[in-house]
Parts: sequence; structure tokens; C-alpha cells
Amino acid sequence: MKYEVVIGIETHVQLATKSKLFCGCNNDSREAKPNAHVCPVCIALPGALPVLNKAAVELALKAGLALNAYSDMLEFHTKFDRKNYFYPDSPSGYQITQFDEPIIGNGFVEFPFEGETKRVGITRAHLEADAGKLTHPAGKDYSLVDLNRAGTPLLEIVSEPDMRSAAEAKAYAEELYHLMRYAGVSDCDLYYGNMRFDVNVSLRLAGQKEFGTRTESKNLNSFRAVAGVVEYEMKRQAEILDAGEKVVQETRGWDESKGETFSQRTKEEAHDYRYFPEPDLPPVQVTSDMLKVASNGMPEKMPMELRQELAGAGISGREVETLVANIEAAELWLQLNIENPEQAKFAFNWLVGDMLRLAEAKGKSLRESDVSSLTVAAVGEMVAAGKLSSTNSKALLAMLWENDEGAHHVAEREGLLQQSDAGELEAWTDQVIKDNPKPVADYQKGEAKALGFLVGQVMKLSKGQANPPMVNEILKDKLKK
Ligand code: ADP
Ligand code: MG
Ligand code: ZN
Repeated sequence: MKYEVVIGIETHVQLATKSKLFCGCNNDSREAKPNAHVCPVCIALPGALPVLNKAAVELALKAGLALNAYSDMLEFHTKFDRKNYFYPDSPSGYQITQFDEPIIGNGFVEFPFEGETKRVGITRAHLEADAGKLTHPAGKDYSLVDLNRAGTPLLEIVSEPDMRSAAEAKAYAEELYHLMRYAGVSDCDLYYGNMRFDVNVSLRLAGQKEFGTRTESKNLNSFRAVAGVVEYEMKRQAEILDAGEKVVQETRGWDESKGETFSQRTKEEAHDYRYFPEPDLPPVQVTSDMLKVASNGMPEKMPMELRQELAGAGISGREVETLVANIEAAELWLQLNIENPEQAKFAFNWLVGDMLRLAEAKGKSLRESDVSSLTVAAVGEMVAAGKLSSTNSKALLAMLWENDEGAHHVAEREGLLQQSDAGELEAWTDQVIKDNPKPVADYQKGEAKALGFLVGQVMKLSKGQANPPMVNEILKDKLKK
């Protein structure tokens, strides 16, 4: 490739506090009617004063720890600033944010990428209040303002321009998602916009030192969109540069259905925000004690540590990532403590495949299930040994979910065990061969499909208890001419 791509990402993370950043209003408006969660502070009535939410500061500190920003654990000073601009979703005419003394300074994010550990620098992350939401009803000459979201605490995490491919940008976004979830900073519900990515992309000639002119595609709410923007911008900008023209620095949007970015506004219209220290909020001194409290609230293992523990347990890198994305499944998995790689494979499939699917179907978390890790392992072993069909193993797990009475015991009582005894299987297959002369003849004439029918008949006759792969073998053997 003639060009090298350079990518930096700004991420807005909605903090999972009960109340908003500067008032007592409910911070969860997912199911609320418009303007149900508002007060004089968040709709900016004259004279209303903001009070900083301590919980938001605590969550931001945890985010800072997750981003490796407080390695010295020393106290520091942070303050708020006013960013002035007019927009109908922000009735105060300014946003309270942080300018030169953000709550999170230099840090980094590390994640596995193409067999190595990739490090992306974090420039800074600051606390700020979100704006409201505008809707523009179709065919009407007015817009509607909903201020439920106004004042919601956001953390804006700014990365260094350290990423060099679409896949790397996506992996970074995913890692940030894991980190924020592990640290309990945010619900990270992408659907509700709890996490939004602004992706900056530029190209430079391979070997060139200076960065090229970038575009910023804003408000992406999926990892796929992050990768999509990079791929599309690489192509678009390369065409511009190849034609001897210049890339315009601008804000762009993402059209999901077309898989294309489009121009929103150019830098010429950029605001002068006239930042100044927020006069209504005292600065904050973050003490070592506050950092210690935040540190005590961090989970035992962060994603990289969990990966290390999961590595070499007989599962692939991809399976490790599935467990990293499902902390509860990872916990259950680690309790299994399986050394035999063959068994590891089975147990993994039960855990991640069936247990997670079951949890999802029930709308519950894995932690709410009564099934112990030992039982999961036992079910896996029964399948591996041919005593239980994979279909029946799902039924068994569903029964054990509410009340774990033991895998063997329940499988036997419910008639779920699979017959792998050769004598019994032969009797069933003989019967089916006798009862189905036409399919037998068809199979012997070379119609492979007929075998499937015969296996099905054996399964029916055995009331689902026959071991299908064994029946298959026995039938093939018996029908050989
Ligand atoms: P702004 O506040 O105007 O968006 P910043 O300098 O804070 O500008 O940069 C925002 C983001 O853009 C950062 O994540 C940074 O890494 C990234 N970035 C800056 N320059 C480039 C570039 N030339 N190409 C790609 N990304 C860039
Ligand atoms: Mg920006
Ligand atoms: Zn309020």
C-alpha cells in the first residue's frame, strides 16, 4: 500500500451513576417520558447552582485506574471549565467540561492484536455533562427538545493517534468496552448510546513522518461501524490524494446502510468556545485516599490478567476472547479447572454455547443459575462419552438451571441418557431395516439421503435414546453390499 493510515479515537462513555453529574435527577431515562427527569439545574434556570456528584468522580477514578493513568497513586488537582456555545439542546448556552486539568491524564490501553500486545496511548479523559436530545418530527416545522439526558455524566477518553488499521481501531474500541465494564464505570449499552466513538482518520505516504489531514466521523455506536469508517475513509482519502487533491479537515457522519461516511461540517464553521474556569464549581483535590478507595473497588482481574490466566487451558485465542467478553462465563470456566484439552473443548462449548444461550433465553445472568461448575463439567463429560446427546444435554441443563440435583441423577430420572450399548443399537437397526425395504434399497442404489431417513427411524424407535453417530456406523456396516 502506498499510504499508511493513522487513527485516533475519542470515546464518550456514559457513567453508571444513579443521579446526574450536577443535580439529583435520575440518570436512567431509557424508559422515561421526555422531560420526566429534569430540574432547575439541568434545564439551566437562572440562579440554579450545580453540585458535583461524588459518585461520578469515583467512577472516573476507576476509569483512570483501568486506563493506567495513576501509576504513582499521588494526589492531584482537577477542575471544571465552561465551554460556550449555543445549541437548542443545551439551554444554559454552555457545557460544563474540563479543559486543561482533566481528571485523567496520560495512560494507555493494551490488548492482544495479531499475536502481539498492542499499546495505544491515552492522551487524556475528562468529565463533562451531556446535552439534551432534539427530534425533528417528519413534515412539521418545529423540533422537540427532551432534556432527560441533559446533565448525564460523560467521560470523554481521547486516544493518541496510535492505531494503524481498521482491525486495530476495532480491537481498541472493544478493549475500551471491556475495561469500562470490568471497572463498573458504565453499563456500556451500545444500543442506548452509553458508549459512542468519534473516529479520526488520516493518510500519509508510507515512510512519511508528518501526519496527513484528518477527518472525524462522529457518534458511532458499534464496533463494526468503527472499522467501517476507517475502511471507507482510507479508500475515499486515497482517491483524493491520488488525484493530487487535498483532504478537507471536517466532521463526517456514518451512513450504516450504505457503509459510507458523508460530510457534516467543515472546520471553517468551527467555534471559538471561549473556555474559562467554571465559576460555580470549586476545583477538586483528588487525594491518595480517594485513589485507594477507587483501587479497592476494582475487580481482582482486568481483561489482560484474565487472558493470561485463560491462556494454555486448551482453548483457542478466539474462545479466550469469548470468555473475556463474558465475565460470568469466565468465572465458571476458571472454577472448572480442566487440564485435559479434549475435555476443555467440550466444557467450553457447554458453558459458552449452551449456558449463555440459556441465560439469554431466561433473561437472567449466569450467576443466578443454580448449576455448579462441577455439573457443567459432568454434562460435558457425559456428552464426550456418548452417554448424552447434544440435544438432550441442552434439555438437561435447562432442568438443572433452577435446581441442580446432579447431572447423572436427573439425566437418568428423566430418561435423557443415550444408548451406546452395541447390542441394543443393533436390535433397533435390524428392526428398522426390516420395516423399511424401500429406503434400504434406495440407499444401496447409491442414494445417500436415504441413510439419514433410516437413522431418523432408529432414533424414533429408541425414543431419542440411541447414539446417532453409532447408529450411522452400524447402518452403513449392515447395508454394505
Ligand atoms: P479535536 O479536539 O479538535 O478533536 P485533538 O487534537 O484533541 O483534536 O485530537 C482528537 C483526536 O484525533 C485524538 O484522538 C487524536 O489522536 C486524533 N488525531 C489527531 N491528529 C490526527 C491525525 N492526523 N490523524 C488521525 N488522528 C488524529
Ligand atoms: Mg474532537
Ligand atoms: Zn436535574
